[in-house]
Amino acid sequence: MGDLTKNFSRSEFACKGAVCCDHSSPVSRRLVRGLQALRVVVGAPLTITSGFRCRKHNRKIGGAADSQHTHGTAADIAAPAGWTPADLARAADALGLFDAIGVYPDRGFVHVDVRGVRSTWGYVAGRLVTYEEGLRYEQK
Ligand SMILES: [Zn+2]
Repeated sequence: MGDLTKNFSRSEFACKGAVCCDHSSPVSRRLVRGLQALRVVVGAPLTITSGFRCRKHNRKIGGAADSQHTHGTAADIAAPAGWTPADLARAADALGLFDAIGVYPDRGFVHVDVRGVRSTWGYVAGRLVTYEEGLRYEQK
């Protein structure tokens, strides 16, 4: 039982840096609502591999300068067993609850955020590609 929604707790969104901050975890309610809806569609636990990042940790791991993660409006979700990142991205997009979706097929996760404007992308072999290319990657 989560303390944010049925299946999600605030601790899952805490900054994952080791010695960077107080590990507080501001997290957007709209983001969490979307994740809960996705959890229901998937029907299995979703692992948040990156939720909130303090600026120090975000810099350390090479995140975008003004990453949505530093605003508590983004989550990276590992593709659960039986789901490819492309499948998970399509399911997330179909909900219409996230503004932005990035698919990282060769790294096994999907980024979703609620930045307020639409944005989609793929990231393959260490470089940005179109969302469609990201979705197609696994079908090669
Ligand atoms: Zn931190």
